[in-house]
Amino acid sequence: MRTLVTNDDGIMAPGLLALRRALMELGDVTVVAPTAPQSAVGHTITLSDPVRVHRVSLGDGGVGWAVEGSPADCVKMALYELMPERPDLVASGVNLGANVGINVLYSGTVAAAIEAAFIGLPAMSVSIDATLRSSPLRSTRPAETVDFDGAARITRRLIDQTIARNLSQPALLNVNVPDLSKGPPRSVKVVPQSLKGWRKSWERRNHPRGGAYYWMVGEMRTEEEGAETDIAALADRYVTVTPLQFDLTDHGRLDDVRRWDLRLE
Ligand code: MN
Repeated sequence: MRTLVTNDDGIMAPGLLALRRALMELGDVTVVAPTAPQSAVGHTITLSDPVRVHRVSLGDGGVGWAVEGSPADCVKMALYELMPERPDLVASGVNLGANVGINVLYSGTVAAAIEAAFIGLPAMSVSIDATLRSSPLRSTRPAETVDFDGAARITRRLIDQTIARNLSQPALLNVNVPDLSKGPPRSVKVVPQSLKGWRKSWERRNHPRGGAYYWMVGEMRTEEEGAETDIAALADRYVTVTPLQFDLTDHGRLDDVRRWDLRLE
């Protein structure tokens, strides 16, 4: 089996190496990841600038490709330029920080998986529900305490079961793993994406040369009123699996809007 591994935290991220290690047990792994961290860039692609690619040594002695672009750029570059043969699977992660609720739409990690699904490849995005900072200005936790290897092993088990299915349609799965430093997960739950987003706010600062600047702060809204969603199940310490689609059409409303009888004059 041939796997492409990418992420949005950048080529130096420990979660990327953990995923590479875990998936090497399944066959060849090609790593193509952004040169710099690209969290929350969503599905952006580089159109107006050249995209440079560097062959680099990874922190664990392997080699990979660093792309000066977004996660979606990385997948495009890998599939159309860098990999001589198409991969059987694209795995994106392990992202530092959950990608649940509305965050799924901001996520570069998920966008990389969707990019692969555009051309019909099975794809999985994986994130661990851990943060190193409570605000962009204050570091509270060393990166070594995040169990990326544990999350990558869980991913590998899920991939084993996915490829054993012989699916008529390639799976596009968004996986979230609870913070394993607080104990093992309870089990796996297949749940829909919550529609809850961030409780956003801005921290205002004064610039020494005048004017104000802002940091985006805030946190995920985790209160769920008992609904079976990715946010609720992850908070309940389940590994969550959410099948995604990228058809944004609201099919339930097509007929309704047709009945408006829209005209140009
Ligand atoms: Mn990220």
